Amino acid sequence: MIIRELLNTLDEKVPFASSESWDNVGLLIGSKEIEASGILTALDCTMEVVDEAIEQGINTIVAHHPLIFKGVKNITDDSYGPIIKKLIQHDINLIALHTNLDVHPQGVSYMIGQHIGLKHMRLLEEQEIPYYKVQIFVPDKDVEKMKSIFNQHQLAQTNEYSEVFFQSQGKGQFKPSEHAQPHIGQANETEIVYETKLEFMVESHEIQLVKKLINDYHPYEEPVYDCIEMKKSAPTGLGIIGELDNEQSIQSFVAEFKEKLQMPAVRYIGDLKQSIKTVAIVGGAAVEYAQLAKNKQADLFLTGDVKHHEALDAKMDGINILDVNHYSEYVMKDGLKNLLKTWIAEPINIQSSKINTDPYEYM
Ligand SMILES: [Zn+2]
Repeated sequence: MIIRELLNTLDEKVPFASSESWDNVGLLIGSKEIEASGILTALDCTMEVVDEAIEQGINTIVAHHPLIFKGVKNITDDSYGPIIKKLIQHDINLIALHTNLDVHPQGVSYMIGQHIGLKHMRLLEEQEIPYYKVQIFVPDKDVEKMKSIFNQHQLAQTNEYSEVFFQSQGKGQFKPSEHAQPHIGQANETEIVYETKLEFMVESHEIQLVKKLINDYHPYEEPVYDCIEMKKSAPTGLGIIGELDNEQSIQSFVAEFKEKLQMPAVRYIGDLKQSIKTVAIVGGAAVEYAQLAKNKQADLFLTGDVKHHEALDAKMDGINILDVNHYSEYVMKDGLKNLLKTWIAEPINIQSSKINTDPYEYM
């Protein structure tokens, strides 16, 4: 499997376009035309992870956190420079799947949920996809011509259906000025025309083409149409919410969490007498979703990187948060390995990194 094919598969399963605008996902270092000798999944691409790939004869690292993120000004012996140099010197490809993996329904939050045995997991916040509803008014005799133009350009399609239109008939009215060159009617005379309102949906990136086609092919001197921006819910979204098999005290939940995720310490903000049944999770650093978790009846919200004032705010608002450390996302190493094995049909060596890249020492 060449890297280009791997990228195509990833783009199909965890679309790069579903990442946040500030993110940096996809192939960060490497060549699209070379053969992938194996894949190593990692949370962070540290020097130890690069060495691990070299030792295993694996030339492709798929990491969650993008190594190149804030913009590289130079590649020297300082900071991340030696890692980038080593990747290039050893022809190792580095691919980042970050917020696009977060919003996958079986993404990082789901993987943490799996580790703690959460059931009935569903998305905490569904994403919305923008699209356009187009309505165009044309004389009855021109409807089929307009439809065929849109069809020729593969517009007005959904997943498995093409030529998806709705049309209704009515009467249009206009009065051309003496300077107009009307397709129908005469200057200074009110004209009534039997028109069809043709409606269809297009994706956001198609709207400029639609406007051009209408302007090029609509019979009227001044085409009559509307492009209305709409939103529909997507199968992707951030975070998950689900239920534990049995209601638990916060103390027993925390003890089990630490054991299952091999996490030496966590920090709790909230009611120590709280019993836990419904749990919401957003992996990484996402305390801003705590209120949504509470609104959705979560007894406890799991995330990482909670700061002092955010913790105080949550306490004031009566929200229970467990700061499980950003590093709890490490479960994505095995989680992504398993997903890749189902996504890639060809035989390829897929391993998860054994390196602990948690920058913290728990003392
Ligand atoms: Zn993260």
